[in-house]
Amino acid sequence: MTLWWARRDLRLHDNPALLEAQADSPAAMVFPWGPALHFWSGRRRAHLARVLWSLREDSGGALAVRRGPAAELLLAAAQESDARVVWAQREFSPAGVREQDEVKAALEADGRELRFVGSPYAVAPGRVVKGDGSPYQVFTPFSHAWREHGWRAPAAAADVEALRPLDSDVSLDQEAAHGDAEDPLEARHEFRETQILDDLRAFVEGDLARYKDERDRPDLDSTSHLSVPLAYGQVHPRTILAATEKVRHDAARTFESEVAWREFHADVLHHHPRGQKESLTPALPDDAWTTGREADESFGAWRRGETGFPLVDAGMRQLAATGQMHNRVRMVVASFLVKDLHLPWQRGADHFRKALLDYDHSQNQLNWQWVAGTGRDAAPFFRIFNPETQAAKFDPDRRYVRRWIPELDTPGYPMPMVDHKAEREVSLAHMKRGKGASKG
Ligand SMILES: Cc1cc2nc3c(=O)[nH]c(=O)nc-3n(C[C@H](O)[C@H](O)[C@H](O)COP(=O)(O)OP(=O)(O)OC[C@H]3O[C@@H](n4cnc5c(N)ncnc54)[C@H](O)[C@@H]3O)c2cc1C
Repeated sequence: MTLWWARRDLRLHDNPALLEAQADSPAAMVFPWGPALHFWSGRRRAHLARVLWSLREDSGGALAVRRGPAAELLLAAAQESDARVVWAQREFSPAGVREQDEVKAALEADGRELRFVGSPYAVAPGRVVKGDGSPYQVFTPFSHAWREHGWRAPAAAADVEALRPLDSDVSLDQEAAHGDAEDPLEARHEFRETQILDDLRAFVEGDLARYKDERDRPDLDSTSHLSVPLAYGQVHPRTILAATEKVRHDAARTFESEVAWREFHADVLHHHPRGQKESLTPALPDDAWTTGREADESFGAWRRGETGFPLVDAGMRQLAATGQMHNRVRMVVASFLVKDLHLPWQRGADHFRKALLDYDHSQNQLNWQWVAGTGRDAAPFFRIFNPETQAAKFDPDRRYVRRWIPELDTPGYPMPMVDHKAEREVSLAHMKRGKGASKG
C-alpha cells in the first residue's frame, strides 16, 4: 500500500500527488489535524472540518483524519498500512516547508520515503526566473514570463474504488459545530468539491464577462469567490485557468492576471521568507508607529468596525460576521490601519490571519505589504486610500455599507475617529523622514 498525505490539496480531481499514490498500489489517505489548528478561529476550523467531511464523503469514507503532529501521525499510519512511500504536494510557505522536512526525516529514519509531486500553484514558486537566474522583483515582467512558462493540463480524477480506508480519531461533526453552521453537515452543499466545480463553470459562463468592470465593486459582489476553495486546495489554479483560457473576452485576461498575483506573492515569499514578518522595503522610520494605549484603542475601534468611516466599518463587520471581505475593501481597511491610524501592517495581518476563511500566508502577508508600500512590487507609500472617495466610487448607492451597518445615518453611528486629511499629512511627513534616514 501507499499513503497520500492530504495537505492544502483537499480534492479528488486534478490531484497529481493522490494519483501518484494510486499509480502502483491501493492508497490510503491521511489528513493530520495538527496542533497549529488550535490557533485558527473557530469559524476557520469549522470550515476545514466541513471540507474534510465532504472529501471523506466523496472518497467513499476513505479519508482518515487524525489528531497530532504530521511527522508522528504519518509515520504511524505508514507503519500500520505497511506503506514504504508517502506521496504529498510540496508546500512553499515557511511553516509548510518546516513541516515537510520533519515528516521526511521521520519517514527516512524508519527506512521509508516522502515523495513530492505538484504544488498549490500553476507554476511552482522558484521556477519563473530572469535570464540570469535571479528572481523577478516586479509583477508585470513576472506575469509575462509566467504565462510564457505555461502549465500542464489538469490531471485525471482519482480512482475512488481503489482507495483503502484507515480509522479516524477526529470527530468532524463536532469540529464543524464550532463555526456558525446551524444546519447538519449533510444539508450544506457550498463546500462540496462538485459544487465548487459547478460554481466555477457558472462564473466562467456568467459573471466573468463583467469581471473587468465590476471586480472593484463590493456592492455587486460578482467576483469568483474562488479564494476560499483555493486556500484549502479544493480546486487547483490549473483547473481554473483551463476554464478561463477558452474565453476570448478581455475580462478573462484581467481575471487570469489576478491569479498571477497569487503566484507572484508565493514566489516572492519563497525567495524572501523573512517577508512573512518583516517589511521587505521599509518605507517609514521605526518611530513612526503609534504605541501603547492609544494604539490598542485605535486597533480595537478598527477591529470592531467602529471607526466612523462607513466603508472601513462595513468591511470589518463583514469580516467578523462571515470571515470574508471583498478585495477592494481589504485594501481600504488595510490602508486605513497603516496610514490613518499609524499601526504596523503586521498587526492588521495577524488579525486577518485569525478571521479570514480564505487565509493564505503568502497572499495575506504580501498583500498587506503591498498596501503598506513595503513589498517588493508594492503600491508606493504615498498612495493613501481616501475611505470616503473610495466608498463614493465603488459603492455609489451605499448598498454595501448599508448591508453591514444597520445604524448608519442614525445618531448611534460614531463620528469619524480621525481627520483623514490630517493623518495623511502625518504619514507623508513620516515617509519623507524615512527617505532622509535611508539616504543618510
Ligand atoms: C490586505 C489584504 C489581505 C489579503 N489576504 C488574502 C488571503 O489571506 N488569502 C487570499 O486568498 N487572498 C487574500 N487577499 C487577496 C484578495 O483580496 C482575495 O484573494 C480576493 O478578495 C478573493 O476574492 P475572489 O476569490 O472573489 O477573487 P477574484 O477577484 O475572483 O480573483 C480570482 C482569484 O485571483 C486571486 N487574487 C485576486 N486578487 C488577488 C490579490 N490581490 N492578491 C493575490 N491573489 C489575488 C485569488 O486567488 C482569487 O481567488 C488579500 C488582499 C488584501 C488587500
